[in-house]
Amino acid sequence: MTSTSRNSTSPTTLIRGGTVVGWQNGGHRILENGVVVYRGDSIVHVGRTWSGVVHEIVEAAGKLVCPGFISTHAHVSDHVGDRLVVDTGRRDFLRSGFLNYAPRRWPNGPGFSSPDNQDASLRYGFASLIRNGVTTVVHLDGGPGDGGKAITRIGAESGMRLYYGPYCNGGDYFFDDRGQLERHEDEAAGLASLDRAGEAIARFDGSAEGRLRGIVVFDELFQATPRLLRRVKELAAHLDVGITLHASEQVHEFHEILRRTMRTPIGWLEDEGFLGPEVILGHCIYVSGHRFTSYPFKGDLEAIAASGASVAHSPVALARRGVTLDSFQRYRDHGINLAIGTDSYPQDILAEMRWASLTCKVTERNNESASAAAVFEAATIGGAKALRRDDLGRLAPGAKADLVLVDLDTLRFGPIHDPIRALVYCGTGELVDTVIVAGRKLMENKSLIAWDEACILAEMRKGVKRVWSACADWHWSGQDIDEVFPPSLLPWEERLGSRKQRGLVVEP
Ligand SMILES: [Zn+2]
Repeated sequence: MTSTSRNSTSPTTLIRGGTVVGWQNGGHRILENGVVVYRGDSIVHVGRTWSGVVHEIVEAAGKLVCPGFISTHAHVSDHVGDRLVVDTGRRDFLRSGFLNYAPRRWPNGPGFSSPDNQDASLRYGFASLIRNGVTTVVHLDGGPGDGGKAITRIGAESGMRLYYGPYCNGGDYFFDDRGQLERHEDEAAGLASLDRAGEAIARFDGSAEGRLRGIVVFDELFQATPRLLRRVKELAAHLDVGITLHASEQVHEFHEILRRTMRTPIGWLEDEGFLGPEVILGHCIYVSGHRFTSYPFKGDLEAIAASGASVAHSPVALARRGVTLDSFQRYRDHGINLAIGTDSYPQDILAEMRWASLTCKVTERNNESASAAAVFEAATIGGAKALRRDDLGRLAPGAKADLVLVDLDTLRFGPIHDPIRALVYCGTGELVDTVIVAGRKLMENKSLIAWDEACILAEMRKGVKRVWSACADWHWSGQDIDEVFPPSLLPWEERLGSRKQRGLVVEP
């Protein structure tokens, strides 16, 4: 996808004076006071000095110069639903978050999403990713049913690298009037959604100078059938794109599939011949051996590793529900390619790295597990491998000029002995100073270039307010937002006695 003509006539930019995370001998290396040189959309040199022609100089003293981060699992929007369920929600959903707000009130009844807020919501999501140093994102979301027109338009406008395909699914959830959750399977609709996704992907794949790429996105393994899985695989092969799906995300999904197929979800995918190097398994928490499954056997991690499939780990959203991989280190020791996702909010990949490391250390009760280097690799080279790109996730000649400069010269970091540990355990997205994708600056001096942040924030909040105030319409209980999702602190004038509903809501 490299635009050779643009590269040969493009100005040359030199980044100098920073702590460079360069790529050498198959791994990231620290190069103090190094230089990175790019021309057009590609890096031409990484080293100690550069004596060639230069048209622009970026001074990076006091900054970490590292590869742009790759979020392999993100729902790029405002997360009007997820924000409600951090430590609330129905106990009978066994810590699943989205089931609390995503299902419709009855088949085809009102849903919580607000299509009129779509553009503001997407801009907010992309802006958050850029702010936090993400340069490539795999987006999973339903969208407004326009065949991906809004997301590809705004994705191109953002300047980021976007992997996307319109959602396909073989079913849906809805609530009946008692609040009973029903799952509705529809294989024919799933096949039709795959046809539509295929047409859309063929239309936009490779556009925006190669920054927009297709990927077949099947929403949820739980809603798949063997026929749908075969069709997903065939479609991806036909389009020569990858595949991603939510898999083994919910504990009841694990047990339902085990009951239905006598195999674990991953074992079932293995039997169906679905796993492969083009597959990114979103979340992939409940595998054999995970202590919450009561299934202490081997098999799943071995199958994933043998197939070459990747796992997109989004630890922050999971930890909010009291869940994590069991464990990042165990997956890694099996030889599985681990990548990082930012899932819902705050799209902060530095926080995701930190939580990937810390939750693993706690799970393993071992400080040496999930090192800073391991999670940094997952957010860079792991993501590139998941997308089968050897030109992303590294700073090396021939790689894409996707870079992030992080301000190290702050009280937040203080003295730095090891910049990667400092970044992982102490860094925040607020310290990301400059973001470059394909040689173009998307953010400089901590300020977005293409968009006005205040404007994005105001527009997005307006839309969210509308969704929350309509809670009684879309929520199965018909109650208002504060009754369904109680605030942390009681309001000044509390309407006493209205907070507990049917014993389903956690008391503040
Ligand atoms: Zn997801």
